[in-house]
Amino acid sequence: MNVPVLKAAGKSTGIAIGRIQKLTRGRIPIPEKNIRPDEVADEVERLKQGIRHSLDELNLECEQLEQLEILDPLLILEVHRMLLSDPELTDKTIASIEQNLINAEWALRQQIDRIKTIFATIEDPYLRERSDDIEQVGARIIRHLQGHEPDHERIAGTSDTILIADDFNPVDVVKFWRQGAVGLVAEQGGMNAHNIIVARGIGLPMLVGVSDILSRARDGDIMILDAELGTWTLNPQAQDIRKYELFCDALHIVEQDLQAYASRPSTSEDGHAMALQANLEFVDEISMLQQVGAEGIGLFRSEFMFMNARQLPDPATQARCYERLLQATDGGPVTVRLLDIGGDKPLLFREITGHEYTGANPALGLRGIRLLRQWPKILQQQLNGILLASQSGMIQLLVPMVASSEEIELVREMCEQICRHQGLAFNIRIGTMIEVPAAVMIADELAKVSDFFSIGTNDLIQYTLATDRSDEETDHIYGSGHPAILKMLEYTVRAAKRQGIPVTVCGELAADDNWTETFLNLDIHALSMSTHNILPIRKHLAKLRYQPIL
Ligand code: PEP
Ligand code: MG
Repeated sequence: MNVPVLKAAGKSTGIAIGRIQKLTRGRIPIPEKNIRPDEVADEVERLKQGIRHSLDELNLECEQLEQLEILDPLLILEVHRMLLSDPELTDKTIASIEQNLINAEWALRQQIDRIKTIFATIEDPYLRERSDDIEQVGARIIRHLQGHEPDHERIAGTSDTILIADDFNPVDVVKFWRQGAVGLVAEQGGMNAHNIIVARGIGLPMLVGVSDILSRARDGDIMILDAELGTWTLNPQAQDIRKYELFCDALHIVEQDLQAYASRPSTSEDGHAMALQANLEFVDEISMLQQVGAEGIGLFRSEFMFMNARQLPDPATQARCYERLLQATDGGPVTVRLLDIGGDKPLLFREITGHEYTGANPALGLRGIRLLRQWPKILQQQLNGILLASQSGMIQLLVPMVASSEEIELVREMCEQICRHQGLAFNIRIGTMIEVPAAVMIADELAKVSDFFSIGTNDLIQYTLATDRSDEETDHIYGSGHPAILKMLEYTVRAAKRQGIPVTVCGELAADDNWTETFLNLDIHALSMSTHNILPIRKHLAKLRYQPIL
């Protein structure tokens, strides 16, 4: 019998063969028992021990995240630490064991439900949302009471786990990668959703937009996850596994061959240079920069550092993070994009601005620089951090979602003001992200106020073709290579040339080898992409000949 091979809407790269573990994000079933009065003291002690173990485990997780400087989940875990020692949870659960003569799990479950009911009536959306944290803290204690390893947040411990869930946020992707998952499959998502971009960056095989996978697969099933082709096979036959094992061996040989390109210059066969830089989402991805010989960081998506943060870290903390990027690139260039948060990341929007997002159409709503103009304090705080770091290396600042030259002028004025007030040298270059069709149309004007352009093709395609970049239903339109996109690129480059400023491409198209020749011939100065793609593109570039088209 042939096992069907099925296609996903979006993919990263690589191949994984592994056993499925479904992420069960629901409640853990608990025993409900009545106890005798003489058992109360032991039961209370058991609860206290469960809390102590939870706290030890949390402390350890926080330490690990601190070492890695992963700020986002760390901030959530700190809230959990506070909740664990909150008398509302601990003392009241003990009182319930004593008065109602019930076991610790049952008393805890009741108390969690009581607290959650109170939270549900709170008006402040931020606090209301914390009800999930109470649930997670309670689940952690219950797990310790029952001596279980977490199955809903952590992989089961085998070396070949493929995790399956409804969706993974970008922080989950990094977390599960660190825990050793060999692949991820999500029901939601499309070609250029942010989680898949992160998976590409760290080289983790991942598929998104795999509908019904949760109902089709069972825990322990074997899966071949082919993120090269974007396909998956459930419970394959032995000969299919063998075929894929051979394929993986071949891929390994290809990768070894690519290593030779780590120290080669990024030039065409006839010596025309086009720098290959890295797109980074998290600081801890820097370990890969040297391995692939990245010529700087062309896009640091700074908002990922702050995901789940309650507030924006102070300028000194931010500066330390940017300085690490500088060190990893031997002084730069490091291109820090200003926070690109907005309606597409409603939690982050709320946590950073303190407001609820109410716009009906997030991708067209308050995003990027539009949002930062509305909350100048946030902008000021980030500029402060970036300018501090710019004293120790070549930092470039990139402004997202630009649609008018005023937006760039405003950022420049604020930078000048901060430098003046703080006695800092102004040695930063300010770039415009070209990702809104309006910016292309006024590229001449924008080029006059910008030090460089960086074309964000992910959004530029989305807005030009009016197709949601993460909707699997419209992926065929999004990825159709519509001629309007080439025209947009040509128009932008012509304007930049007239003004003598360089152009980088930093969207996913930069890593698409069908486009490398066009970019070379358009005189694109640099391509910035997931580190994983740098070597194959450098190899491809080395075979091309430069034939200018503008
Ligand atoms: C883009 O839009 O092409 C881009 C690089 O930015 P992001 O994917 O973060 O929106
Ligand atoms: Mg964008």
